[in-house]
Amino acid sequence: MLDKVVIANRGEIALRILRACKEMGIRTVAVHSTVDRDLKHVRLADESVCIGPAPSNQSYLNIPAIISAAEVTDAVAIHPGYGFLSENADFAERVEQSGFVFIGPRPETIRLMGDKISAIDAMKRAGVPCVPGSGGPLGENEDDNLAVARQIGYPVIIKAAGGGGGRGMRVVHSEAALPNAISLTRSEALAAFGDSTVYMEKFLENPRHIEFQVLADDLGNAIHLGERDCSMQRRHQKVIEESPGPGIDEEVRQRMGKVCADACLEIGYRGAGTFEFLYENGEFYFIEMNTRIQVEHPVTEMVTGVDLVKQQLLIAAGEPISYKQSDIVMRGHAIECRINAEDPETFMPCPGRVTRFHPPGGPGVRVDSHLYDGYMVPPNYDSMIGKLIVHGENRAVAMARMRTALDEVLVDGIKTNIPLHQRLLRDSGFQSGGTNIHYLEKMLKKRK
Ligand code: ADP
Repeated sequence: MLDKVVIANRGEIALRILRACKEMGIRTVAVHSTVDRDLKHVRLADESVCIGPAPSNQSYLNIPAIISAAEVTDAVAIHPGYGFLSENADFAERVEQSGFVFIGPRPETIRLMGDKISAIDAMKRAGVPCVPGSGGPLGENEDDNLAVARQIGYPVIIKAAGGGGGRGMRVVHSEAALPNAISLTRSEALAAFGDSTVYMEKFLENPRHIEFQVLADDLGNAIHLGERDCSMQRRHQKVIEESPGPGIDEEVRQRMGKVCADACLEIGYRGAGTFEFLYENGEFYFIEMNTRIQVEHPVTEMVTGVDLVKQQLLIAAGEPISYKQSDIVMRGHAIECRINAEDPETFMPCPGRVTRFHPPGGPGVRVDSHLYDGYMVPPNYDSMIGKLIVHGENRAVAMARMRTALDEVLVDGIKTNIPLHQRLLRDSGFQSGGTNIHYLEKMLKKRK
């Protein structure tokens, strides 16, 4: 087994990884920025190393500092969590070249799936259904691009090949708007991702976001753990996730899950990963693969009983996955609400001191959060301060449990989006299930 692991992340996911390591008897090294020395996992880790000042480009994105921390502490592996360097192929490569185990896929897999155009190409070859689109980068010739759009049919969406985090995308409804939209997306993509390559896809009008969780090891095994519905989004950012997806039947789940697991074998995938699809009129369209653990992984853990982070650690140690496909059974229903330090009306981030924190409890309630009384939420990072996850024997029970948990949780001193979640969990559309990715934004617009 891995002897000592560097946790190259912060906040709730760093704590989540620390907990998995502790359960497995793996020693831990927390690396942190100067403002993060009081993070819960830093206190609980066996060792900690300050890797730089608050700005993430000088700390959590500082590759030499993280590798040095692994060297000075005699660690054997590095877990990148999500965000930061988790999908940076150069980082994974440097980690391996320095003699450490990268807890994730091989660098070349990260690179393949990190470029959305090469990812779509690989998925098509592996038999994964994709959104109708340009099938490659758009060139400079305006007439050619107009012809591609005409063939796909409006509306279309222009997307950056190197995009992520819901940025670098533009919807185009008419021929007249296309050339300008392409050049705008190009320059934004260059500024944000250092790559001006863009491609075109059919813009699906009312899809749901359904994604499949997979695990693959280095010994030729790949399994899926069913799907999550992450359609409740604002600005392409997920707000609530659930598993299973309302209305997705077992036959469809097994068929699509197998497509994903087979694709893992095809591309030589290793570790935990997610295939993201848009789902419309009963059809799945692949949009991208996330080559890391995701924020919403707990809902899958709650319904399958599989600890995904422990599986990541086992796989990284060269062990086989602990489960066969037939061992994976989805039981009941799980929902996750992402709790952000932000104004529930304006969505402006609200960093500051948490004067009081009372997590909710009771049967089927899980809280993944690094908060504690007196914790100072720094302004430098993502505003997510934790996740509330509930499990129940069916969706109605899970919804009721989440309402109870949301009414119970107390975060004093800062503003949070808990009131928004309270509204959503009482919303009749969401209660019926199967709302599409535009539902939340339309609802917010109506309120205004
Ligand atoms: P990112 O890597 O930035 O998360 P994705 O490709 O995963 O980008 O897309 C993020 C979100 O953008 C999707 O969940 C969906 O809401 C929307 N989106 C992306 N592609 C399309 C499309 N072809 N049609 C409609 N919506 C889309």
